Amino acid sequence: MYYTSTRDNSVRITPSMAILKGLSEEGGLFVPCEFPKLSASLSEIAKMDYKETAYLVMKDFLTDFTEEELKSCIAKAYDEKFDTEEIAPIAEADGVYYLELFHGKTIAFKDMALSILPHLLTTAAKKNNSDKETVILTATSGDTGKAALAGFAGVKGTRIIVFYPKGGVSKVQEKQMVTQKESNTLVIGVKGNFDDCQSKVKELFADKELKAKMADKGFCFSSANSINIGRLVPQIVYYVYAYGKLLSEERIKEGEKINVCVPTGNFGNILAAYFAKKMGLPINRLICASNENKVLFDFFESGEYDKNREFILTDSPSMDILISSNLERLIYFIVGSDSEKTKKLMEDLKSAGKYGIRDKFPELRADFDAEYANWDDCSKKIHDLYENVGYVIDTHTAVAAAAYDKYLKKHSDNTKTVIASTASPYKFARSVMKAIDPKFEKEDDFKLIDILSKASNTDVPAAIDEIRNAPVVHDTVCEISEMKGLVEKSLGL
Ligand SMILES: *Cc1c(COP(=O)(O)O)cnc(C)c1O
Repeated sequence: MYYTSTRDNSVRITPSMAILKGLSEEGGLFVPCEFPKLSASLSEIAKMDYKETAYLVMKDFLTDFTEEELKSCIAKAYDEKFDTEEIAPIAEADGVYYLELFHGKTIAFKDMALSILPHLLTTAAKKNNSDKETVILTATSGDTGKAALAGFAGVKGTRIIVFYPKGGVSKVQEKQMVTQKESNTLVIGVKGNFDDCQSKVKELFADKELKAKMADKGFCFSSANSINIGRLVPQIVYYVYAYGKLLSEERIKEGEKINVCVPTGNFGNILAAYFAKKMGLPINRLICASNENKVLFDFFESGEYDKNREFILTDSPSMDILISSNLERLIYFIVGSDSEKTKKLMEDLKSAGKYGIRDKFPELRADFDAEYANWDDCSKKIHDLYENVGYVIDTHTAVAAAAYDKYLKKHSDNTKTVIASTASPYKFARSVMKAIDPKFEKEDDFKLIDILSKASNTDVPAAIDEIRNAPVVHDTVCEISEMKGLVEKSLGL
């Protein structure tokens, strides 16, 4: 199995090199040259636990890892850091299956991939005889940052630098990040929004002068953002696992198709579901759910992607994104694996902030539907689900749940549906409690967490208890223009 670039089809690299590099030289993203088919039957998959499913899926994407190497990475990732042996349990509420992806160390779905990425990366470095220290440079809309910090903290041969939009993440998200104490970690607030941070980080990756300076000092860059295939591949696993689980619990019949509805920002999570479908998992519709920053919804409606619009700060901050990086991979497949065409579209995006693929509209909609939900929709959904069945969802998951309700109003579809539940409600307790009862508005964030615990009759996760009284270690705030200087300074360049 080789990977090529969405912007240059002549690129051919091994899986481990694709993980090490993160991004292709000319700015494209790595995509597999072909899709492997699931190498076990659905009924066999139904008998597998999470780790076994992970091995089944990942071995065919990471073909230059030995069985021993890959199994060791999997064992180190999906262990007691998760608060349930199932790793990704399914909760049924109001006729829908919520795939809970928030049982890892930082209580958001980013843990699913970022628990394993450091191990994939250090293994890949060893395989390719790299003696360089890997510097992980990451822009975060809130959840990636902490999950990456937790994954890389103290990992030998790595350093991690995280940029987050100051004022653009939740209190709990910020506290989680700025209290990270290991000496190989650095966290910096940026005066700008997530897209500003992400664009600058991409620019730094492509900065030849910086790269040369780093190489001189024995460093190389890699990315923990969801553009790295080392993050994408582990995310395919939980869709396959969820299907097996539903089958083993006799909630579906073997081969029965399911819908998957995903609260979407950078388009990584839903792209992984699309990859699962390409592998042969019986998926009917992929429903892409947006919040008020509904650039993706508009794209799926019109075939035109246009980021020229106001950036809205919402109660689902991890989805406040106008440039969904991973969409480039879908575009590549939609235009027939044509890297010249993809490159042209991405250049249009860079120069004009938009591009259109109206001629490919049928292909675009072959697998995908899209809906969006505003705060009123989400607030009502959180409230009603709690009142009716006592199940509490977070604000991101609520976007998907409310969007799915809208989808059902438009389509008569009785396919069973899995909603990706991407964060613990504890991470967004303020917004969640506001939806359940506005009278809590005045309480402080940690008080609200205790109120949520009582209301939902669940324990406060360890991830929250850890940060209650933890000292702030990182307090640097900078302008966009200062990001490069701070990277150089921290590495002693
Ligand atoms: C990152 C994130 C999302 C969006 O996922 P993408 O892969 O970027 O589309 C949704 N919900 C939560 C809680 C997240 O952290």
